Amino acid sequence: MPTDLRARQRQLADRIRRTGLPLKVVLTLLTKGDVFDGDSVVLADRVRDRLPAQRGLVLITTDGDSPGSLRGFEWPADTHQAREAVAAAGFLDETRNAGLADLTAKAVDLVAEGRGEQRYAEATKHLRAPGTRTDEGKTPDGTCGWLPAAIPLALVLALALALTTLATRALRRRRGPVASVPHLVFAKARAAEEAELHRRAEAEILALGEATPAADVTTTPGLQAALDAYAAAGGVLDEARGLPDLAGALALASEGQDALDDTPGLPLCFFDPRHGRAALRTPWHRLGHRDRLDVTVCRTCADALRDRRRPEVLTDRDENGRTMPYFEIPPERSVWAATGYGSLMPVSAGFSRHRTVSPT
Ligand SMILES: [Zn+2]
Repeated sequence: MPTDLRARQRQLADRIRRTGLPLKVVLTLLTKGDVFDGDSVVLADRVRDRLPAQRGLVLITTDGDSPGSLRGFEWPADTHQAREAVAAAGFLDETRNAGLADLTAKAVDLVAEGRGEQRYAEATKHLRAPGTRTDEGKTPDGTCGWLPAAIPLALVLALALALTTLATRALRRRRGPVASVPHLVFAKARAAEEAELHRRAEAEILALGEATPAADVTTTPGLQAALDAYAAAGGVLDEARGLPDLAGALALASEGQDALDDTPGLPLCFFDPRHGRAALRTPWHRLGHRDRLDVTVCRTCADALRDRRRPEVLTDRDENGRTMPYFEIPPERSVWAATGYGSLMPVSAGFSRHRTVSPT
């Protein structure tokens, strides 16, 4: 990659760091039929899915529908008005003939400013006035960025920033390998997470299995419950298809151990059982829901809720392959969503029922 492009990468990376936001930029060529099927939404979901759980994420990506344009995404939604801020960057006079690096820099600045809705309204005001410039890239849904067509395509390929593992990788070629890089990196990270959780759950189950024969049936009222949880945990571990199941095996083993010890404590953290045993029970409003749930949370998640930050949550995929917090999956489809890993009901009870209704 030419030296000036490396310098631009560094400048942009510095700019992103200075915002202090959980902001990532992924610029890559998107074409129909590639690993993202040319769709920036797929790219964004993939990035989100493959990153380790984190409190929030603002993502600026290439717009698959409009080469040379950018799109903004963020989780949780609307925290920084990033979608509108990124779209606004493409409508400004100052970015009219800008290259992608300058456009990205402007988008970063606008996201950091946090007034995306207002910026977008101002930048697109002329489009709503009758008879003026309506032929210049109007966006039907008002969400996609727009950019003059003169952006050199080479720049689109030249930058892949801020994802830690990608930041230093130059995108040298136009096709194929460019898009596959993030996929491989993220798949590897997820696999490592799964291997670690598998090892941890297996160790807990083995410890429970070793403890149960030593228990005295006359003085251990929870022995049968412990044996049931042990059997369920082993079954879940054997058939685990990803992090949510592995976390379930962990939660069942923990429940079994509690039954055996006859010291029922709080279950594991509702938001992600990998956080360990919950420290307290707290009311929690789900985004977009009116109802209030009582959930058990670890200390870190409790602090996050208190500070109105989103806790780090365990994600799962719905039937369409979309990644979301595991508890957003309909409870009839996920025993983990139904039980909250023991936070909403004993996970073993939920699992037994699930096994009863499941056709398999
Ligand atoms: Zn937690």
